[in-house]
Amino acid sequence: MGTGLQKKVVIVTGGTSGIGEAVTRRFIQEGAQVSIMGRSKDRLDRMSDEFGKNLLTIQGDVSKYEDNQKIVKDTVEKFGKLDVFIANAGVFDGFAKFLDVSPEAVEEAYDYLFDINVKGSFLGAKAAAEELVKTKGSIIFTVSGASFYPDGGGVWYTASKHAQIGLLRQLAFELAPDVRVNAVAPGGTLTALSVIPPLQPYVKIIDNDTKAKNIRKRNPLQIAMSSEDHVGAYVLLASDESKAITGEIISSDGGLSVRGLG
Ligand code: NAD
Repeated sequence: MGTGLQKKVVIVTGGTSGIGEAVTRRFIQEGAQVSIMGRSKDRLDRMSDEFGKNLLTIQGDVSKYEDNQKIVKDTVEKFGKLDVFIANAGVFDGFAKFLDVSPEAVEEAYDYLFDINVKGSFLGAKAAAEELVKTKGSIIFTVSGASFYPDGGGVWYTASKHAQIGLLRQLAFELAPDVRVNAVAPGGTLTALSVIPPLQPYVKIIDNDTKAKNIRKRNPLQIAMSSEDHVGAYVLLASDESKAITGEIISSDGGLSVRGLG
């Protein structure tokens, strides 16, 4: 028996790298047809060359409604329907410290990061909702350990990832019984998640080995997670095997909630 993703039509934002790319690869392997939105034309072309007719690529910006509308429209035109919308694109604040950052940069960083992490999630869900009602489909948000705990980022990232949870809960309530709305909350993962320009002067760039060491130290399973480690959670939430699950968040984080007091 397969994972039930065969013939599912799925949109993944930020599907050209990191977690979104791993999800895209696995879903196509499982027989899904996938559309990805990304910013880099080179990366989109590379994925397109690799996957051919089972992949649609759209260059766009999740913070623009018309780009979200375009990917939904083009997906339905090409693949005939939409079953799952994965709002995954995101950016990071690099753990910038609130006290260090100038008021101007606080504001600029807020607009920049919330536009992508929060507004992008709102607008993607809005653009997809009508088609998802037709298929009794689902939305999956990529949230974070920072959706629950401090020190998974600075204030911008932590607040934005908390905001996604509010969106998820209210949407799961409003879109029932037609559309399920869930999330995956990865812990620290070795990707190239980028620090937004307004905060770059305030953060230290750390190399991947140090990052892996830090991540391992912080979670009880002591895993420096890779993008592929989270994919199973998306497979479950996208498939009909989870038809009774809505408003839930699967933490895929090496056990952050059981770190204990030590
Ligand atoms: P990544 O940088 O590889 O992936 C993010 C993708 O989003 C990139 O392809 C980027 O180009 C795209 N993107 C950014 N802004 C965009 C915009 N305006 N429009 C369209 N695409 C845009 O990093 P990742 O770690 O795979 O991040 C994916 C998601 O996982 C994010 O939501 C992130 O917050 C979340 N997450 C990451 C970690 C981690 O430690 N890496 C932990 C928890 C959650």
